[in-house]
Amino acid sequence: MKCHKCKTDIKEGEQRDHHEGILCEDCYIDVLYPAKFCDPWADFAAKSFIEHNLDIDINENQSKILRVLKETGGVEPIGLMERLKGQVSPEDGERECAALNRMGKIRIENRDGSVMIRLA
Ligand SMILES: [Zn+2]
Repeated sequence: MKCHKCKTDIKEGEQRDHHEGILCEDCYIDVLYPAKFCDPWADFAAKSFIEHNLDIDINENQSKILRVLKETGGVEPIGLMERLKGQVSPEDGERECAALNRMGKIRIENRDGSVMIRLA
């Protein structure tokens, strides 16, 4: 089969399912990261959320993400999604990570093009 994005041949078992289609691992990482983590709209949404909810509580998906980060001490986005497979969709995971980042619960570090998510 071929990657939906870069059209490379993907070996059996190495394909990643994404709502845009079957992707190779490289494209899958590209899709998961990074644009939305820096999304100004997400930033705005989280800030206004915090302003209106001073007593904020994290939701169930966010607590699952925090638990993985606590257990691993830090993980790449793709590793996080693998650990949450079947529990949290990649889209939700991405959104919750952006929200947690804005809340100051986690740090998303970009080092030489590789991304690590850690507890703040
Ligand atoms: Zn690809």
